[in-house]
Amino acid sequence: MHEWGVARELVRQAEGEARRRGAREVRSVTARVGPLSGVAPELLARAYEVARLGTLLESAALSVEPDPVLASCRECGREGPLEGAVLACPRCGNRELVVRGGDALHLAKIEIEIGPEPPGGEG
Ligand SMILES: [Zn+2]
Repeated sequence: MHEWGVARELVRQAEGEARRRGAREVRSVTARVGPLSGVAPELLARAYEVARLGTLLESAALSVEPDPVLASCRECGREGPLEGAVLACPRCGNRELVVRGGDALHLAKIEIEIGPEPPGGEG
């Protein structure tokens, strides 16, 4: 499963970033995933549930932020986001589009917790 590798990579990156900043845990992570990235957000979320175990992200929620596909039509000149992964102009149906964006697949944001261990130990 492709998403498994992606989830592990996201966890690895977020954990590396958190350690560099001296965090003791990660509260939440946001990944930016476009429809053209080849990764299904719901599968990524499921893989993440496993990938985060035993890491600083163990209690961090994952949010997936969409990366819209922007296309300009060579036929009618329409420019704007495309719905889903259908590569046709929503106005005239032309398939000669200049596409940009929509293929993002990376860590967008992490929220970390920096500070002393709370009293009471492991919790
Ligand atoms: Zn068009």
